[in-house]
Amino acid sequence: MKDLKEKLFYDHTNVYQAIDEGELESINEYAKGYMSFMTKAKTEREATAEGVAMAQKEGFVPYTMGMPLEVGGKYYYNNRGKALYLFIIGSENIENGIRISAAHVDSPRLDLKQVPLYEESEMGFFKTHYYGGIKKYQWTTIPLALHGVIYKKDGERVDVTIGEDDEDPVFYINDLLPHLGKDQMKKPLAEAFTGEDLNILIGSEPVKGETKDSVKLHVMMLLNEKYGITEADFLSAELTAVPAFKPRYVGFDRSLIAAYGHDDKVCAYPALTALFENKSPKKTLMTILADKEEIGSEGNTGMKCQVFTDIMEEIAKALGGNYHVVKENSKCLSADVNAAFDPNFAEVYERKNSSYINHGIVMTKFTGARGKSGSSDASAEYVSFVRRIFDEHGVIWQTGELGKVDQGGGGTVAAYIAQKNIDTVDLGVAVISMHAPIEVISKADLYMAHKAFSAFNK
Ligand code: MN
Ligand code: MN
Repeated sequence: MKDLKEKLFYDHTNVYQAIDEGELESINEYAKGYMSFMTKAKTEREATAEGVAMAQKEGFVPYTMGMPLEVGGKYYYNNRGKALYLFIIGSENIENGIRISAAHVDSPRLDLKQVPLYEESEMGFFKTHYYGGIKKYQWTTIPLALHGVIYKKDGERVDVTIGEDDEDPVFYINDLLPHLGKDQMKKPLAEAFTGEDLNILIGSEPVKGETKDSVKLHVMMLLNEKYGITEADFLSAELTAVPAFKPRYVGFDRSLIAAYGHDDKVCAYPALTALFENKSPKKTLMTILADKEEIGSEGNTGMKCQVFTDIMEEIAKALGGNYHVVKENSKCLSADVNAAFDPNFAEVYERKNSSYINHGIVMTKFTGARGKSGSSDASAEYVSFVRRIFDEHGVIWQTGELGKVDQGGGGTVAAYIAQKNIDTVDLGVAVISMHAPIEVISKADLYMAHKAFSAFNK
């Protein structure tokens, strides 16, 4: 009966129960590279810059539209410093299609408003507008760092990173002390802390002898001294507050990693390393690091931007292939995270169809909300295709749906790639506390992500 059950029933596997010593070592080694990447790449701009630096080391060269391409050539297209398209031209006929791994590198955060600076009761603050889906109360009373760019009146660019170095100051959002929280604590979570309450504390020392707006003046004097900016320069700036934490191992066994922005750099990094690993592929390979996924993939750096198909079309043309045939035969892994089953919140998950920490990379056939609304829902044919690749290459994987039916939902870039006539399915790492300032993932799942993209590329 036991053998029969083993033969006939389906169950997924804990990676640690299935691997040997060698692979355990690979898991631990791979995590180090990822943590170092995560230390440097908190925003989409930084992830793009880091991706470019890594690609250049691997011999990739900048691509410009219309440029001739050669077999074995490695190229990257840097879209406005916020999104990256990397590709290697394979030896096979281009009409056999391109293998695409598409992740995103933007993460939920607090953007500064365009007129952010003010003083209230002798304290200096920045007004913010949150980006992506957040639970607002989670962003209070934690150390924050400021990242981004400022363009001065004359167009000169100033890069800002403050709060990451141990010597740097950090920034902070106040919350009410419990002693005076009687009314606040009666409010629902979504109302206890509103978007307009997310004001960042940035200073308190006034200019001596001056009484009105003297803290604000002091802050502006310091900013002018350090960056040469005036208050008007915030109008043409993109500054964002992110948690000032470095990635850390979690647990006595160090099996988990806590970091800001696992969603979706935990897929972006493996999509990069899998691409770099393949030195002379048969198929043409592409890895995409997209921006704006957290706000609907909009804009000219999001996945909906035509630059994606423009590049596909140019590749087809340069290699003498028919663009429509290239798309028709291309295949994509939409590399994005899923919600790991959390026993502390078991009521929102459906146990049989949730993804589990340490059970390997998660394939998500469909996302969306309610009756699969907004999902591209991968075909059984394509799931079968990917399933066989993973089984052939020893990739430990599981399937995962985002929570119980009608509990909520979400989307990824999958739908925007599938609509171009490209087979697409979501594949990514299971995340604990997704979209929190600090999210948690498993090292074993991270490594399986690399293995999965690598197998797909082969
Ligand atoms: Mn995501
Ligand atoms: Mn997300």
